[in-house]
Order: sequence, then structure tokens, then C-alpha cells
Amino acid sequence: MNSPEWEALESECASCAKCGLAQERSRVVFGVGNRRAKLMFVGEGPGYHEDQQGEPFVGPAGQLLDKMLAAISLSRQDVYIANVVKCRPPNNRDPQPAEMEACMPYLRTQYALIRPGIIVCLGRISAGALIDKSFRITRDRGKWFERKGVAITATFHPAALLRDDSKKRSAWEDFKEIKRRFDELLT
Ligand code: URA
Ligand code: SF4
Repeated sequence: MNSPEWEALESECASCAKCGLAQERSRVVFGVGNRRAKLMFVGEGPGYHEDQQGEPFVGPAGQLLDKMLAAISLSRQDVYIANVVKCRPPNNRDPQPAEMEACMPYLRTQYALIRPGIIVCLGRISAGALIDKSFRITRDRGKWFERKGVAITATFHPAALLRDDSKKRSAWEDFKEIKRRFDELLT
């Protein structure tokens, strides 16, 4: 679906220089997937592969995300995937508060246009930006909140699962609950 709103937003992002990350990027990573999705995932920011290809979650963490989606019978085309910041922080450092603040209005417009029923934050940075500044991923993942009629939760970032196998079991529990609620939205 290429409405004028989406086109305007995408072209604004493509030439954005609202924060310092503009100087470092190869490509702006706008977001990908179904613009009518009921389920939206929000990561932290592009890494090396994403910056090269202009698409979110295409590196090793993205491959794991694809596998986890497949395990709940979903694919990239069923969901929408974006990040808190659209340009890669150098050396994959955390995005800074000012960078997140500069970029978040784009993400907010994206979810205003998509109107998903569920938003899933991938990792601490995203959960901190979208749910609560004091969010602690190990303590608070798997909890569900409501923001303006949208159900929102967080789980471990797939890159964290690649570093630490022991987190996979709880991530899987989170994904099963995400799928249960997703199916509920469709009925
Ligand atoms: N990590 C993220 O948070 N986002 C991506 O798009 C890729 C890796
Ligand atoms: Fe603009 Fe966001 Fe890129 Fe900063 S990270 S330059 S706000 S698109």
C-alpha cells in the first residue's frame, strides 16, 4: 500500500539529517513488511548489514528473528519491522537519548499509519523508549502493557539470544504468548 502519507514519510526519512547519525550512515533503514500488519516489531537500530542493505534485521540477529517468526507460523510479510533509530550508530554503540528523540516521531507516524494491535519491543533500548524508561529487560520481558489501545510487550533482542543460549527458553515463551494474542486479534 503506497499512500501519499507513506510516500511523504519515506522520502522525508531518506534525506533526514535531524541527528548526528546522518553523517555516519550508508543507508536509512526505514522499515519493512506489511503496512496493514496487526503485529509490529521494534528493534534498536541498524547494524552493519542493515546499514548496507537498507533493511532492518537482515544480519545474524535478523536470521534468528525470521526463524522465531517461522516457529509461530509467521513470516516477514505478516508483520511490520522497524527500529527506534533509522540510521546506524557507529560501531553498533547504543543510540543516544537525543538521537532517539530525534527519530521517534517517524516511528510514531509509522505505527499511527499501521495501527497494529500489538507492538513487540526487541531488547532493552526499544522497551526503554516505547514502554518505560525504567524498563529492565530481564525483569520485565513478557509483561504486557497498554498504550492508547495498543497491547505492548518486550522480549530479548535476538542478538542477546545469540550471545546467551540460556535466554532462548523465555524468549520462546514470549513468542508463544505473542502468537496467542495475535490469533485472538484475528478472530
Ligand atoms: N538490531 C536491531 O536492533 N535492529 C536491526 O535492524 C538489526 C539488528
Ligand atoms: Fe534522521 Fe533518525 Fe537518521 Fe537521525 S537516525 S538522521 S533522526 S532518520
